[in-house]
Amino acid sequence: MGVFSMVEETGHEQVLFGNDPRSGLRTIIAIHSTALGPALGGTRFYPYEHEEAALQDVLRLSRGMTLKAAAAGLDLGGGKAVIIGDPHRDKNERLWRAYGRMVDSLNGRYITAEDVGTTALDLAMVRRETRWASGVPVEEGGSGDPSPATAIGLLAALKATAGFLWGSEDLKGRRVAIQGVGKVGYYFTRLLVNEGVEVVVTDTHEPAVARAVADFGVKAVGIDEIIAVDCDVFAPCALGAILNEQSIPKLSCEAVAGSANNQLEKEEDAQLLAERGILYAPDFLVNAGGLINVFEELNGYSEQRAMLHVHAIGPRTLDVLVAAKERGVIPQDAALQLANERIESISDLRRMSRGGLTWTEVEGT
Ligand code: NAD
Repeated sequence: MGVFSMVEETGHEQVLFGNDPRSGLRTIIAIHSTALGPALGGTRFYPYEHEEAALQDVLRLSRGMTLKAAAAGLDLGGGKAVIIGDPHRDKNERLWRAYGRMVDSLNGRYITAEDVGTTALDLAMVRRETRWASGVPVEEGGSGDPSPATAIGLLAALKATAGFLWGSEDLKGRRVAIQGVGKVGYYFTRLLVNEGVEVVVTDTHEPAVARAVADFGVKAVGIDEIIAVDCDVFAPCALGAILNEQSIPKLSCEAVAGSANNQLEKEEDAQLLAERGILYAPDFLVNAGGLINVFEELNGYSEQRAMLHVHAIGPRTLDVLVAAKERGVIPQDAALQLANERIESISDLRRMSRGGLTWTEVEGT
């Protein structure tokens, strides 16, 4: 499929390809929607096997950000960026600053932050070239790594899911299998262990497993075993597309709730989960804590205000689960409806302030 066909299919507003041969930077910035505000989304640093895989990933991820911001009630659109490279080997100051220049060229239509393979320190370098970078270190006036906030929001969502499924938000004695104990997975493990949850983990990066086992005394299993671990909740906290035709029949849990973006390989996979009697808490609803935290940075960061909004993910998740049950639809569809209705209802107002619509047109609708 050609590049324009791919972009048209996903309904993106703009895609920028950036190249700086001196630093080895090859980046794609995708702005899916600015209907509700500037497109905010992290930068993924990943050794994609080929360029098409990088483009596909950034298109999928940025679309997910539009839904996430809309469902969370934020005045943000959806965007995301990828940098093709090995995060353990290919980072350098020039690369980050060249990338910062490219972000800056979009004049605030895109605001970047952390994602897989990037850290607050990387963002500090980007920030030297553009003000459109959030999640910079606390000592530089930012809100720091958003991962702890993501884990806190995920816990709030998991408690709401538990209340909905089992009649109690108390997680003590429950069993959760976590795929990926990187930034979010690590903090999430800590929160769960503090709640008295029995946690089982895995990760492709052996030191990440060793750290979780040493710090929290959790059990580790092999990367291919985690899907089938007998548990109450499976929590995907690694990469996307983990829920698919092959993996869903192997699951042995009552619910799926995790931080990974785009957990469903295909939209229809949400239905497959429902058919197996597994409650799927939509990823873009439950993993919005980090986005909420970096959004707060744009308004002058207050941790107290940010945490108030992050904790609201719990009641919002419950609202979606209850609405889905009442309407006889799956939670994924109820969450999509929540996001799309908000985009639909607010985007007109924004166009109006830009002079895109006349008052007569508005009255007529
Ligand atoms: P990270 O890179 O710090 O951690 C991901 C971990 O997953 C790594 O330790 C990696 O080794 C491991 N991993 C990769 N493939 C794996 C596999 N097949 N099996 C097991 N482990 C595997 O990234 P992160 O920031 O913790 O993000 C994790 C997920 O959550 C990503 O999908 C990210 O997009 C999403 N997310 C993160 C945030 C945030 O605040 N960091 C916010 C929202 C969503």
